[in-house]
Amino acid sequence: MLGLMQQRPLLISSLLEHAELNHGETEIVSCPVEGGEHRYTYADCAKRTRKLAKTLKRLGVETGDRVGTLAWNTWRHFELFYAIPGIGAVCHTINPRLFDDQITYIANHAEDRFLFVDLTFVELVERLIGRMPSVEAVIILTDAAHMPKTSLPNVLCYEDLLAAEDDDFAWPQFDENTASSLCYTSGTTGDPKGVLYAHRSTVIHTYAASLPDVHAFSAWDVILPVAPMFHANSWGIPYCAAAVGAKLVLPGRDVSGTTIHALMLKEGVTHSAAVPTIWLDFLNQVENSDKGTGKLNRVCVGGTAPPRSMIERFHKLGIQVRQGWGMTEMSPMGTFATLKRDMLDWPEDEKLDVLVKQGRGAFGVQMRIVDDAGTLLPRDGKTFGNLQVRGPWVTSGYFKRDDSPIDADGWFNTGDVATIDPRGFMQITDRAKDVIKSGGEWISSIELENAAMGFPGVAEAAVIGAHHPKWDERPLLVVVPKGAPPDKRALIDYLSGHVAKWWLPDDVVFVEELPHTATGKVQKTALRERFRDYKLPTI
Ligand code: ADP
Repeated sequence: MLGLMQQRPLLISSLLEHAELNHGETEIVSCPVEGGEHRYTYADCAKRTRKLAKTLKRLGVETGDRVGTLAWNTWRHFELFYAIPGIGAVCHTINPRLFDDQITYIANHAEDRFLFVDLTFVELVERLIGRMPSVEAVIILTDAAHMPKTSLPNVLCYEDLLAAEDDDFAWPQFDENTASSLCYTSGTTGDPKGVLYAHRSTVIHTYAASLPDVHAFSAWDVILPVAPMFHANSWGIPYCAAAVGAKLVLPGRDVSGTTIHALMLKEGVTHSAAVPTIWLDFLNQVENSDKGTGKLNRVCVGGTAPPRSMIERFHKLGIQVRQGWGMTEMSPMGTFATLKRDMLDWPEDEKLDVLVKQGRGAFGVQMRIVDDAGTLLPRDGKTFGNLQVRGPWVTSGYFKRDDSPIDADGWFNTGDVATIDPRGFMQITDRAKDVIKSGGEWISSIELENAAMGFPGVAEAAVIGAHHPKWDERPLLVVVPKGAPPDKRALIDYLSGHVAKWWLPDDVVFVEELPHTATGKVQKTALRERFRDYKLPTI
């Protein structure tokens, strides 16, 4: 027997409709790339988004068409996040930090018909447009007064287009499984792969990401997403904010610690989300200022593991750290690390032991670890294996690719190696390709890096496997020092208090900087290449 409840489709447009009706007065504040500030409300935004929907229709955008964006976190990008999927097209966010070849590959693979670009990226598009035959016109996200002189053939001004429309538009209703947005993984190996989100997956992800043990969003919040909208939809925040009616502060282009700090104080920000590199800069800024952190009460850290010392520094400021783990393929939310009730009274050190883990799966994400043969491994917090996930906001395949990333039972292999403890906390020990295989045993590069980051004088650390004739690989610690390089022996002695003896790096090398990917992660492939012939002193 079937239930008798309504089958209303879960559509992205309904999030903004909800915000307009129930939180119409709530502000969205942005830092435009043109300078100054831009403020308006959800009511204004909803109106303009309907005008934008009409603009898209007038341009000839049809259901299923891909419309590319190259833009920072601003109100105009926010409008595109709703208008493009709202009419049944696909909002394809392109990461402008990728290499030219990757950007053209992605735009061509997606067959983007239009590109909406911030002023900052006009030059980039001028350089590449000749290699993007599917693009019919480029719309510059600015007003007439700021339109640049450009060699682009078909160029339009965003504000002029909107000004020509009225907002008499009703959002169409369609199948909730319709594709809504597209985001390519950065493809550290092989070509980038397109993750194609749906309305249904996005709305369910929005509910789950707003839960108390995840972001805990509410209408009381002022959210500042530093995580870019071009990387996994700014971790879903643009959708969650509308769902709960939170004030949004969109930082635009400048995300330095100083700017973010000032913006937080000015706008009364309560929650913010960013990768560890940004938070490091922010903490340095805050600790050298006497201005405090205003209303900020929690931060989300994700993308890579935050060092323990970072969580401690936030705690000293009275700010909760919510570490999130996820990936583009997961919309992106997988787990969040928050304490359970009985842990609230634990000593600080034991709390930190929990909070450095990547956390518990939000309801909707199933997780398990298996060995290379696919055998299920125990959730004992010690055994580590390949982490697999499944759920309604996990990918089932890549855009225009036949090879399936999931097995017959729907499990998606994350490429991460992890433990899961009996209370549900997952801890990443490595990316499968970064784990160090020493004499048949696995050493976690992440754990070593985190430990090294706690040593004074270490600004950034990365551990890779260096060739060893007896053990296959042994850990090599690569450090960017804070000022003068610290003493190697003292550093290794310090590490011996944190990891098993056989995990200790065979050597430490100091470098001026580490190579990073477009999403701010240490590029281990480049580092391994650089130290391919490195001769460990233990050989
Ligand atoms: P990209 O490859 O473009 O950077 P993703 O953001 O999808 O794309 O990367 C996902 C990967 O990032 C995860 O599989 C995991 O290895 C790593 N990651 C994300 N969050 C964390 C975290 N909190 N701790 C450790 N690793 C993380």
